[in-house]
Amino acid sequence: MGGYGSGRQGGKRSTDSMNPLDIRRLHRAGLLTPGRAFSWQWTVGGKEVASIRLRTEGDHVILDYRNRSHGGEWRPMEYPVYLEWTNCTLGGRRVWFRCPAEGCGRRVAVLFGSSIFACRHCHGLAYESTRENSGDRAMRRADAIRKRMKWVPGTANPKGDKPKGMHWRTFWRLSAEYDAFANTSWAETARCLGMIPR
Ligand SMILES: [Zn+2]
Repeated sequence: MGGYGSGRQGGKRSTDSMNPLDIRRLHRAGLLTPGRAFSWQWTVGGKEVASIRLRTEGDHVILDYRNRSHGGEWRPMEYPVYLEWTNCTLGGRRVWFRCPAEGCGRRVAVLFGSSIFACRHCHGLAYESTRENSGDRAMRRADAIRKRMKWVPGTANPKGDKPKGMHWRTFWRLSAEYDAFANTSWAETARCLGMIPR
């Protein structure tokens, strides 16, 4: 049940409009021990708007949910997000996500979900002071995916086919990442040109 891809397109691009998955909350709830399987929901006004399933397996957690783009068919999304533990100065350990977006791997406490879960930087959700670069970052992410997919370079070009030898699930994940990052970069471009008010 639940999923992504409806009702959240085209809104204000800010961290408020996405579903945050905060590893500190998972940790505090004791959900990060290996072999756990659980679901996580987001609600607005008491109503569930999205949910995902998670499984912990050693040094990573598997995200499992469904996604569809622009009213297309629902696709199963399932991919690992690696965890990293660091020692705190005053003792104890802290846990982080490694952002699963292609070519990122940043150590972050919060992943933001739209069609894919990725860090704030990948989604172009920079803080105000650095917002002018968020479109560029999303564009770089989108370009990196085009390269991995062996598609013609340049986000002005249409998406291509699945490369030979790539699993469908990987293709769907990268394709969803691509949509998210390309949308961000185009929205940012339009904003810079004054086509969309901030
Ligand atoms: Zn990232």
